Amino acid sequence: MSRDPVDATNPLLSPWPGDLGLPPYAAIEAGHFEPAFDRALAEHSAEIEAIATQAGAPSFENTAAALDRSGRLLARIEPVFSGLCNSFTSPELQAIDRKMAPRLAAHHAAIRRDPRLYARLDALLQKVETLGLDAEQRRLLERLHLDARLAGAQLAPAARERLGEIVERQAALMTQFAQNVLAEEQNCLWLEDEADLAGLPESARASARAAAAERGRPDDWAITLSRSAVVTFLTFSERGDLRQQAFRRWKGRGANPGPQDNRPLAAELLRLRGELARLHGHATYADFALSDRMAGTPARALELLYAVWEPAKRRAAEELAALEAVACDEGGPATIEPWDWRFYSEQVRRRRYALDDAGIKPYFALENMLAALFDCAQRLFGVRFVERGDAPRYAAELRVYEVLRGDGSRVGTFVFDNFARSNKRSGAWMSALRWQSRNGGEVLPVIFNNSNFARSAAGEAVLLSLDDVRTLFHEFGHGLHGLLSDVTFDRLSGTKVLRDFVELPSQLFEHWALEPEVLARHARHCATGEPMPQSLIERVLLARRFNQGFETVGYAASALVDLLLHGREDSAAVDIAAFERETLAQLGMPPAIAPYHHLPHFQHLFAGNYAAGYYVYLWAEVLDADGYRAFVEAGNPFDPAVAQRLLRHVYSRGGSLDPAEAYRAFRGRDATVQPLLEKRGLAAAEAQPA
Ligand SMILES: [Zn+2]
Repeated sequence: MSRDPVDATNPLLSPWPGDLGLPPYAAIEAGHFEPAFDRALAEHSAEIEAIATQAGAPSFENTAAALDRSGRLLARIEPVFSGLCNSFTSPELQAIDRKMAPRLAAHHAAIRRDPRLYARLDALLQKVETLGLDAEQRRLLERLHLDARLAGAQLAPAARERLGEIVERQAALMTQFAQNVLAEEQNCLWLEDEADLAGLPESARASARAAAAERGRPDDWAITLSRSAVVTFLTFSERGDLRQQAFRRWKGRGANPGPQDNRPLAAELLRLRGELARLHGHATYADFALSDRMAGTPARALELLYAVWEPAKRRAAEELAALEAVACDEGGPATIEPWDWRFYSEQVRRRRYALDDAGIKPYFALENMLAALFDCAQRLFGVRFVERGDAPRYAAELRVYEVLRGDGSRVGTFVFDNFARSNKRSGAWMSALRWQSRNGGEVLPVIFNNSNFARSAAGEAVLLSLDDVRTLFHEFGHGLHGLLSDVTFDRLSGTKVLRDFVELPSQLFEHWALEPEVLARHARHCATGEPMPQSLIERVLLARRFNQGFETVGYAASALVDLLLHGREDSAAVDIAAFERETLAQLGMPPAIAPYHHLPHFQHLFAGNYAAGYYVYLWAEVLDADGYRAFVEAGNPFDPAVAQRLLRHVYSRGGSLDPAEAYRAFRGRDATVQPLLEKRGLAAAEAQPA
């Protein structure tokens, strides 16, 4: 294929220098993306055309394996683009994103629902027993066949065409939804008077000062609407009036009349999803979505949520009584409002466990916790992380590592982008710049972990809360799932597993964050280097179940609203705010607790792939709570035999095995729900310490 002159100067299309698989970020400009996408889309389409129209009868190699190999140039460019859009965006990139998102979605969907490819895959699947495939090859064929069916390849032409329009429109709406939330998060709570900071620890004051300076007001303080900033403010601010303001802005994101109002976007998405499900012959979108999940049906997912809902509410009522008692003692409000809960629960935690965040944080310096992650990965899975200061990066504060096995061979590349920036999405997530595979040449993975930790003042250690530490371990678990992948096919690589299985490696890894052995080694005081005192470790461990009624109610409320909303059979337009209000009232939502996410800013559902799927965290928690017991039963959190089974059947297996089978191969049996209830302190017989 001849290359036009733009190629020579477009770093996205030229070979990337260096051995780490990272693009030359410094040379990439926003204007490079569209021409690069044009070429990559054309190349991919040509490859697909060749597979679809070839004269040879369908074989695994010329159809399934060839599809898996296709589109490598696009797969090289797309994650660079989405990575920058998420973590280092600009008005130029946002404009390109609004234009490209529907185009890219349409491109991929058109391939999945191509009836010519489907006919070839279907012919192969009909005689799969005669093809002599190994287990992973068979899994790829079944997966591609199902991808095609879920995209509507088997439907009549008119229905297929309509599905294409829906997919494209959904992508445009979801991009706009995310951009609106990001814009609304710039709407900080401004504090201009020292008295407004009452109760805030020094680190929170420094972060608020830095956030204000970044926004051009160096003499004020800004509480941004990112989760970690708001939650810190709600936990420590002694000013109930300001807590209320911060809370209202945070929970009101996306529901303000005007150009960033997400309510009409969500309503349109829901209408489109209902139509899409009906085209597939399902009554509701939830039925359609759950057909490709481990849970199988919405009823099974709801059953799990209801199994925790009442016990969680009972525990939350006990927690509330303790908060009211403290508030009464301290001359606080007679009724605990949602913006009061974290503040008074911090008081209870201090009294009950003699623990406060400010006393814990010095033991959780980010640098020490990174060392803890690497140490756990090495002890469990035998991999080493070696920092590479010479690697290209889009922001100087990124940390890049090459990951090596014990024998020195390369596993892949790993990147930490740990800090909040105004041009970065909130939250924490893992992404892959490149997936591991070996279908037509060895491809090593390039994995990113993103967080939004607040920076420290110059020269001081970045200190994490317990919640931050858990998040760090969680995302690193996803990172390892991508990094340790050892499969043949790209479609089955790393975290490309069923949505209610994907949180198992991440949530399981959280358990090591609070292993006494890990704390003793890595939780060292940032100033003195002293290990965390044994009594403090014990109190931290005791406090693990603290406030789990509140946490479980907040999470499960969002998960229930999601499943019930996407489970509506009524195709009429829905007022999402009214639906949420009425559903929560029917569920008996405690008035002192707000759901984790309100619908107008619920990006999992309306800007991500978790529609009818927010329950997956709890589903996976059944597995992680049960799975971690294997180490407890072995009497060693790094037991080599258990770790080896975990690597072999879970962390390295990607989607090359049915998830229920993978779990059984690791654990020797199916998971039970009891360890989850015990982990959260919700089991019937358990009493909370007074
Ligand atoms: Zn996760």
